[in-house]
Amino acid sequence: MPANKKLLILPGDGIGPEVMAEVRRMVDWFDRRQAVSFDVEEDLVGGAAIDGHGAPLADATMEKAMAADAVLLGAVGGPKWDDLPFDQKPERGLLRLRKEMDLYANLRPAICFDALVEASTLKPEVVSGLDIMIVRELTGGLYFGEPRGIEELPDGTRRGVNTQVYTTPEIERVARVAFELARKRSGRLCSAEKANVMETGVLWRQEVTRVHAAEFTDVELTHMYADNCAMQLVRNPKQFDVIVTDNMFGDMLSDEAGMLTGSLGMLPSASLGDPDETGRRQSLYEPVHGTAPDIAGQGKANPLAMMLSFAMMLRYSLDLDADADLVETAVKNVLDAGTRTADIAAPGAETVSTAAMGEAVLAELDKLAA
Ligand code: NAD
Repeated sequence: MPANKKLLILPGDGIGPEVMAEVRRMVDWFDRRQAVSFDVEEDLVGGAAIDGHGAPLADATMEKAMAADAVLLGAVGGPKWDDLPFDQKPERGLLRLRKEMDLYANLRPAICFDALVEASTLKPEVVSGLDIMIVRELTGGLYFGEPRGIEELPDGTRRGVNTQVYTTPEIERVARVAFELARKRSGRLCSAEKANVMETGVLWRQEVTRVHAAEFTDVELTHMYADNCAMQLVRNPKQFDVIVTDNMFGDMLSDEAGMLTGSLGMLPSASLGDPDETGRRQSLYEPVHGTAPDIAGQGKANPLAMMLSFAMMLRYSLDLDADADLVETAVKNVLDAGTRTADIAAPGAETVSTAAMGEAVLAELDKLAA
């Protein structure tokens, strides 16, 4: 049997620990099956780490994250820590992980489960069968570019500045991740930028085209202006397979694509860094949703986004595609059977707790693996 995989579990705040508890049960399920085994460490992040360790991410936790095969994170933040200065807030823990692990490729799938087609605000025929992946550049561009700031002008008015900046290597590495994903899926990649009005857009298009010609001619590459892409995502989202785009456009397009599927409680994500010499990538898996303080501690949270993030970990960090398929099929079957947490239930319909949803997925895994 291969060596145990090292997982670092960071439940975080609010509903984070509640949804992560269901992932812990799934880890135990895989351990029992003995096809893959895990060494799990658990630690604090966000507000819980501020309270427990005095900082949103302790140095020792950062070291464990760097050494892990994958990190699973719940969510961070909440009203208790809202008044802290910006550089001490719970979110700094997550930002530190992303920065020091150099997680430059953010994968956000948008899959519309047939059973939840009615939860989307779009017509069923537009979203039914939807399965797309947005790859967002996560560590460069407008959110990090210098100069930045707000300055006083001599006439007493003020000026705010942010800088959009990208280099060849930054574009190349995220493009490569997207091409490789497209190759594993339906072989189509759409690159979105604003080459009509931005120099970074011109460079983005040229570099993506060059990587394509040099390494990925088997993948079909198209280019689209990001504003058109936003429109096409609601007009006819099924025309896309994989979309690659920069940090800011990706922020917007991935949220838009996510909502095509109906509920925040269903959306997983992965953030990947470069592979080392053994092929191991730094990686962090987390649901798209936050800590949901309005329902925290009530057993109402939907654990499926967290469980689907675990499935992404099996696929992208551990190369266990069949096991990832197993988890995704179990989730699909549970939804087909009508099991619903409150966030995805029709008005007046019966709902189950976080733990009952987790249990239903595990029971389905038992059936599928029998
Ligand atoms: P949120 O995602 O926590 O909640 C938005 C709404 O969706 C709420 O009504 C919530 O009850 C519901 N919801 C979210 N996840 C759900 C789930 N799994 N099951 C059922 N319902 C769910 O966003 P928010 O309210 O804007 O933020 C709350 C806190 O979370 C803030 O402190 C914010 O900073 C933090 N946050 C953290 C992350 C992260 O850690 N990555 C992301 C977003 C927000």
